This record gives sequence, structure tokens and C-alpha cells, in this order.
Amino acid sequence: MSALEIYQFNCRSDNFGVLIHDPDIGITASIDAPDENAINEALDQKGWTLSHVLLTHHHFDHVEANIALKQKWGAIIVGNQADQDRIPGIDIGVACGQHFDFGTHKAKFIDTPGHTIGHVAIYFADQKLLFTGDTMFALGCGRVFEGTAEQMHKSLSVLAALPDDTVVYCGHEYTLANAGFAMTIDPENSALVERVAQIKALRADKLPTLPTSIGQEKSTNPFLRVDDARIRQRLNMENASDVDVFAEIRRRKDEF
Ligand code: ZN
Ligand code: FE
Repeated sequence: MSALEIYQFNCRSDNFGVLIHDPDIGITASIDAPDENAINEALDQKGWTLSHVLLTHHHFDHVEANIALKQKWGAIIVGNQADQDRIPGIDIGVACGQHFDFGTHKAKFIDTPGHTIGHVAIYFADQKLLFTGDTMFALGCGRVFEGTAEQMHKSLSVLAALPDDTVVYCGHEYTLANAGFAMTIDPENSALVERVAQIKALRADKLPTLPTSIGQEKSTNPFLRVDDARIRQRLNMENASDVDVFAEIRRRKDEF
């Protein structure tokens, strides 16, 4: 069994497109469907044929190309069964906690409500590969649109519990803005300071800051560090619950 090949590209204003390709079987999935033309160009460039679209959530900037890709490629649209009424063109609904067989690889649909109620992260345990959509970003997390702070905090905790060397792809390139905010919450964290310098250098060269890893996010992403003593002290929340600290950091980010 060969490793999945991955191709990440920019599309829309700040979305990422990602293709994953199983070279043994010759199938290719698009993680979300943000942009028909960009996805077709990426497929062209790699010489891959689209077989599936695996969706993290129903927002327009993640499903817009579903129908077009289905028409052009006969791609099978796979999403969270519980959210199937909101996913255009869905063919296969996967229940949270269950796996979808992508060729010889198993994609686990992990329930990650908060940004939307039906949001899932897609996890290939055998590849140590995670697609977090708009739940976790590099140095950030998605806005809590439909769920509660408690749900979002739990969703992030579930992802943070995956192995540190899990490679993480996210739905958007928000890292530079997230870095500026993270420095207001955790400025004395030397791992963060170092990473912010790397991010600035990457963006100055217009290079992507993704993928990241679970280990890197745990040491630098303020939304995963709500139990950190220095952060709590800075927020004057030494004795607050993890959820309350999370909610306060999210509130500050919304106003940042
Ligand atoms: Zn979204
Ligand atoms: Fe999005």
C-alpha cells in the first residue's frame, strides 16, 4: 500500500484546495469543493482523474463546485450523513465516527461541531493525515457560527488528542492574521515567537504556511492552550473553566 499523494493549492480569496491521490488504484479526492476552475487546473497539472469529493461542511466556499465536479468527472460526493440536507449533490452520507473507504485507505469522519453543527474533520489514521476544514486553522480556529463555545472547545480537544506528528491541512490561509492575534494572548511563548517569524518569511515569499501538525498547534495555537498558566494569568482567568477561557479567547479574536 503506497502513501497518499497530496497536492495543495490556493483558490478563491483565501481558501485552500487539496487533492489526495491513491497511486495504487488511481483514484483522487478533492477535500471540499471550493472552486471548480482551480480544482480542474490542479487535476490537469497532476494528470489525475477526480473520483470523489470529501466534504468538511456545507458552507458555500467549501461546496460550491460539488455539482460541477459531479457533472464533469462523475465524482462521488461524500459528506456528513447528519448534514446531508445542506450538502448539494451528496451521494454518500457517512455517520460521524464511521469510516469511508477511499481505495485502500480509511477516512474517519470525526464529529467537530461548532463552526457549523454538521462540521466534520476527515482523518486518515494510517497516513497520519488530518483535514480540519474550518474547525482548526494554523494558530487559530473557526468562528463559532452555529454551535456553542463548549462544542467548539470539545471539537478542538478531540483533534488535539491525535498524535503529535499528524499532518494537518486546513480550509483557509489565515495564518498571518492568526499569528498577530496569538501574540496578544501568548507573547512569552518562545515556540510561538519563533513560528511567527517563520510565517512572516513564508508569506513575504507568498508561500503557504500549511500544512501544520498537531504537535505544532498544541505548542503555539492559543485556542488549544486554554489550560496554560501564563495565558490564564494574562486573561485574569486563573481559576476559570477551560471552556470559559476558550470562549474569552474566541470573543477577543472576533473583535481583533
Ligand atoms: Zn466555513
Ligand atoms: Fe470556509
